[in-house]
Amino acid sequence: MTYLRPFDPWGSRLCLCPPKYSLQPYTGCGHSCLYCYAQVYIKDFYNPRPKKDFAKVVERDLAQLPSGSLISLSNSSDPYQPLEGKLRLTRSFLEMLSGKSVRLLIITKSPLVLRDVDILKDLECAVSLTITTKSLDKVLEPGAYRAEERINALKDLKQAGIPVIARIDPVFPILTEDEAKELVKELIDVVDHFVFSTLKLKKQIFRRLVSAIPKIEKDYKKLYFEKGECINGSWYLPYELRIKLLLPLIEMVKGARKSFGLCREGLDLAEKGKCDGSFLIKSKAFHVEHQ
Ligand code: SF4
Repeated sequence: MTYLRPFDPWGSRLCLCPPKYSLQPYTGCGHSCLYCYAQVYIKDFYNPRPKKDFAKVVERDLAQLPSGSLISLSNSSDPYQPLEGKLRLTRSFLEMLSGKSVRLLIITKSPLVLRDVDILKDLECAVSLTITTKSLDKVLEPGAYRAEERINALKDLKQAGIPVIARIDPVFPILTEDEAKELVKELIDVVDHFVFSTLKLKKQIFRRLVSAIPKIEKDYKKLYFEKGECINGSWYLPYELRIKLLLPLIEMVKGARKSFGLCREGLDLAEKGKCDGSFLIKSKAFHVEHQ
């Protein structure tokens, strides 16, 4: 049994992430986002549970990890979902990293990450907070903290000297197009890097979205299943529409001389090697030598 595994983006050929390892302390996720891709692949996804013998297995995995490896925490569950408040598996993992030569990228939707700033400050790490919408967060991400609290968490992390990334991920056509621009405007002076994506659909995700927001049914059917394209088993918006949604965000970011990455879009607009923001992770050894 291993828990630290090479990152596999569900076989997507459009993923531009650098080689990295992925770790999920929990199976499933209590944030219950309606659009979550992992729900399709993982059984009983919205009934989260801790990984069995987590500390024992991860300690053994870590001992075998090549020096300087990049670890992404997490890609198919949230390391700071509600269970973490009680079980502290994520914190126990951070404690194991002390003195180890690894780089850490945290991806979360929870301000609970602030609890661990005392440890994070001493690690080679960056933190990515996902913020999709302020107006529909309660509907689309019913188990997560409000978007406003995530924005405040980004500010606090930045204040603590930790590189921060905002994932506006995904942008929902019609529903959050304008809001995405507002979010970039609000965060442009706060974060070091942005990651953008457009909503991709699978039939199961489409049904969940429509049951929560029935008015989108007709438009989404047309945009995705009639005019869109199916790539790697997911339905994408038409190519031109993806560009139309993302270009204004990219131009705002470029205008402010910030960097950005695109997640599995298959567009030529992405900056090479920037993708998930892990390039922001500074080597502590380098830092100390050059102070
Ligand atoms: S926080 Fe991430 S892993 Fe959890 S339900 Fe939402 S999208 Fe899925």
